[in-house]
Amino acid sequence: MKYISTRGRAPSLSFEEAMLTGLARDGGLYLPESIPQMSHADIRALEGVSYEEAAFRVMRPFIGDAFTDAEFRGIIERAYAGFGHAARAPLKQLAPGHFLLELFHGPTLAFKDFAMQLIGQMFEFSLKRSGKRVSIVGATSGDTGSAAIEAFRGLDAVDVFILYPHGRVSEVQRRQMTTPVEGNVHALAIDGHFDDAQARVKDMFNDFEFRDGVRLAGVNSINWARVLAQVVYYFTSAVSLGAPDRKVSFTVPTGNFGDVFAGYIAKRMGLPIERLVVATNQNDILHRCLSTGAYRPDGVAPSISPSMDIQVSSNFERALYYAYGQDGGAVAQEMEALKAGGFTVSQGALEALRETFDSGRCDEDQTRAAIRETWAASGELLCPHSAVGVHVAEAERRAGVPMITLATAHPAKFPAAVEEASGIHPPLPERMADLYERQERVTRIANDLAAIETLIKERIAH
Ligand SMILES: *Cc1c(COP(=O)(O)O)cnc(C)c1O
Repeated sequence: MKYISTRGRAPSLSFEEAMLTGLARDGGLYLPESIPQMSHADIRALEGVSYEEAAFRVMRPFIGDAFTDAEFRGIIERAYAGFGHAARAPLKQLAPGHFLLELFHGPTLAFKDFAMQLIGQMFEFSLKRSGKRVSIVGATSGDTGSAAIEAFRGLDAVDVFILYPHGRVSEVQRRQMTTPVEGNVHALAIDGHFDDAQARVKDMFNDFEFRDGVRLAGVNSINWARVLAQVVYYFTSAVSLGAPDRKVSFTVPTGNFGDVFAGYIAKRMGLPIERLVVATNQNDILHRCLSTGAYRPDGVAPSISPSMDIQVSSNFERALYYAYGQDGGAVAQEMEALKAGGFTVSQGALEALRETFDSGRCDEDQTRAAIRETWAASGELLCPHSAVGVHVAEAERRAGVPMITLATAHPAKFPAAVEEASGIHPPLPERMADLYERQERVTRIANDLAAIETLIKERIAH
């Protein structure tokens, strides 16, 4: 299996190379050259198997010869062993025809654990085999950083450095990053905003001497291996509602478009998905684009669902690649126009997107109302991101086709917003109830490239 760039001008890579590289050299994102198919019999055979076994069968055709079957099974087992629910991704019923896929039973209580835990184990395996080490550097506004630290803590071949804006992440998010005791974990609180943290990470990747010297690697949401890991739960949840003999639809709380794009891949593999509904908060560039064709960033207004507060949705480029009939040149042109302020999706491409995707928007008051009303109607306490999904799903669902809304984080990760909306204080799950007592360890650092690079070099020398 070869991987090609959405912009059509980077060398094609193996799965392992694409995973370790992240972004393609022409600025594009990697995609498989062709999409493996699952027959109805293959899909039906997923009924009743463990999440790990389903993960193996769904992902195996994508990885080529990166790992033997036994190695890959071991990687998957280790990745999901730390989840707090035997089903890994359990499905709950909210109302007749409306279901909630709980993706928050991983170690940091957000769906990002599904991909990050897997990628951690895959990195460790590949690097040990090649005798190499890497330094993973990332910027976070909260969820990605905690998921990355949790996935890479204690692994031998990796140091993980996460920059977060000092004083601007929730207490649960901060403690998840600062309390791991392993020496390869480095939480850095930068004096600045999230944009500063992200800009310094980009600077480091552009400083080639530094980049090569410390063997920098990235695990942000454009990494193909992360998308792939997320394809699995579309299959497991649809099968438990009767697929492939019955169609289902999904609503996905969306920011960078990684999660909902995984649903698109599942559909192209043969899973009978009727609609994929993109749910946005007040930062609604994707809803506007799917409604009008115009893709034009206009700033971010902070919301109570902060993991969806985006200006530019990086994985949307992958959907555009297919909408433009796999024409990398056309995608590259739109991305050039984006640098100058925005672009308008061609009529043909917009029609292609609408064959699969619907969209909806949920403002702050509607988010709070969805938390309150869902609690009253079903006793399910939603995090604000999941509430955005439930609100949009209610408007978009059609008779006769079950709707599955993805619950992307645990309510206890965003206790203030949940309590304000519902009057209920969401408790942390038992297994992390002592989070508030654990010792914190963090390095406060200036928003200064040289200072950050010096610190990283010193830390990895030990
Ligand atoms: C990252 C995140 C999202 C958005 O997912 P994308 O793949 O970026 O679209 C939604 N909800 C939560 C809780 C998240 O952490």
